[in-house]
Amino acid sequence: MTTPRPLVAGNWKMHGRYSSSEEVNALVQMLRERPAQCDVLICPPFTLLMPFSNLIEGYGLSLGGQDCHHQSEGAHTGDISADMLKDAACSYVIVGHSERRKWHRESDKRVSEKAAMAHKEGLCAIICVGESGKQRDSGETLDVIAGQLKKSMPDDSVAHNTVVAYEPIWAIGTGRTPSVEEIGEVHGLIRKHLTGRFGLDGQSFRILYGGSVKPENAAELMSINNVDGALVGGASLKAADFNGIIEAYR
Ligand code: PEP
Repeated sequence: MTTPRPLVAGNWKMHGRYSSSEEVNALVQMLRERPAQCDVLICPPFTLLMPFSNLIEGYGLSLGGQDCHHQSEGAHTGDISADMLKDAACSYVIVGHSERRKWHRESDKRVSEKAAMAHKEGLCAIICVGESGKQRDSGETLDVIAGQLKKSMPDDSVAHNTVVAYEPIWAIGTGRTPSVEEIGEVHGLIRKHLTGRFGLDGQSFRILYGGSVKPENAAELMSINNVDGALVGGASLKAADFNGIIEAYR
């Protein structure tokens, strides 16, 4: 068993242009000047993967896709394969983000298929789970998360090819976060699920918290038991903000 090295991942969603290279250059500079005790990942839109790959080489910064198809290739207009992401210098891919689950109707089964395809192509899959506000209010959170984990994680998941991200849907982009106790409770349940299903290796999976992580709350959130890093949306777009979150690991 190894203690997981934390991961701070930025999900740019449908934001960013070629001119955003400036932000990546600034981030690289900040990491060079003050290296962090964590892995750092950015997941920009597909169009920016190749250009960004030239900027980050050798600086401990990784690239990831925001989604991939569950098949290796074929007639799937507008989709991207895990192999294509690999070809564009990615080492990670986010699967099952709540926005994909909602707007693209992705089921747990489909998320699991995508993660399995990512594994096959040698990518680390960041599998997202999280309850809605309604589910939290009606006390269903732990059951919802347990069900999503069971069905969204393929059996070939191991600590080095899979990261779990707990992202309460009601906390994404809202400025609201669960309490420290609530996050600790869910992350504890996720760890229990991982060790129950994958044995000792379950201790080594990274479990990220995501949902309104900002420089101001990062240190507190990252110090919670079984929180091994963050998945960051809005605050990952500006190098200074993202670096302020990474600061939790310096
Ligand atoms: C996200 O969408 O993955 C996310 C965590 O967004 P934000 O940080 O903006 O809440």
